[in-house]
Amino acid sequence: MGVVLHLDQDRWRDHLDQVAQTTPGLTPVAKGNGYGFGVARLASEATRLGVETLAVGTLAEAPLARAHFTGRILILQPWRPDDPPSHDPGLIRTVSRLEDLARLADQPIAPQVVVELMTSIARHGIGRADLDQVADELEGVELVGWALHLPLPAARHRPGPAEALELGRAGLAVGAAPVWLSHLSQTEYDQVRAELGDCRLRLGTRLWLGAPDSRRVTASVIDRHPVRRGQRVGYWQHKAPADGHIVVLAGGTSHGVGLSAPSTAATWRRRGQAVAEGLLAALGRSRSPFTIAGAKRPFVEPPHMQVSLVFLPAEVPPPAIGDEVPLDLRLTTATLDEIRLTEDDSTASA
Ligand SMILES: *Cc1c(COP(=O)(O)O)cnc(C)c1O
Repeated sequence: MGVVLHLDQDRWRDHLDQVAQTTPGLTPVAKGNGYGFGVARLASEATRLGVETLAVGTLAEAPLARAHFTGRILILQPWRPDDPPSHDPGLIRTVSRLEDLARLADQPIAPQVVVELMTSIARHGIGRADLDQVADELEGVELVGWALHLPLPAARHRPGPAEALELGRAGLAVGAAPVWLSHLSQTEYDQVRAELGDCRLRLGTRLWLGAPDSRRVTASVIDRHPVRRGQRVGYWQHKAPADGHIVVLAGGTSHGVGLSAPSTAATWRRRGQAVAEGLLAALGRSRSPFTIAGAKRPFVEPPHMQVSLVFLPAEVPPPAIGDEVPLDLRLTTATLDEIRLTEDDSTASA
């Protein structure tokens, strides 16, 4: 019952294995909601893949990853002086400011650090101009690598591998250590590796959410009610547009239904349109992500905490309570009720 991720584990693992085999220095990223799978499951897969290092987003995520992974754990969020101390000797901290590097270098036991360099993303990192001063602090730490966080391959204007090469070389001129990268295509990564030598590639989405045919998400039908045209329904008491049914489905805001990361909007103008669509949702005319009888059905009103109400016209026979219907859910913002392992049905039909 509820919102279920049906996972063909064999197919998923074939894909993970294939990425691991073709990506020397693969560093899986298991952060946040664990890309819909949960951090624990991803950490177990990282163990199965035999990678040296697993990356998590924050210090708070490290213990859960540690319960399923014994290798090194890289914390992606940069260290700050008010971070609570950690007693896990296998943690690698990211350092993004000179003053933080100086503080860490003063600690009694030299911590393992990756020094992040500022890129065109403008998120975290030490600027190129300050690299000379980094050299002065390296004695007090164990330098595990130089980290670069790069724009998405799909970004329309991006410096691409040129930025990785330039910054990577600048880091290597200060200290010998692997260069840790993200968001390069397979060929770009191969090209950069050929130039820079020892590299690591942090992969989340392309690793865990590749092989889309290995999974599908469904929502249980929890209730259904006949309604008359014009009947007022829902928290907002909108009028039903015609005779038909209200179908109550598992999947609300707590599952991530109705959420989509604004990053999909390429321009400010498109973002404005997204806001306009939100208004449509409030009017109960917006297409929901639930498919019933082959079509996405409109929301009656914005999703509730754990369920959504959709409208089904009278000519469509309503699904039975307990049926599972397809739900189009963005897994990076989703919370599932259950992950159900399925058989590979491609072999069954072969
Ligand atoms: C999240 C993150 C990644 C992985 O991003 P994906 O797009 O999921 O592959 C890599 N590096 C850093 C620093 C990140 O924060």
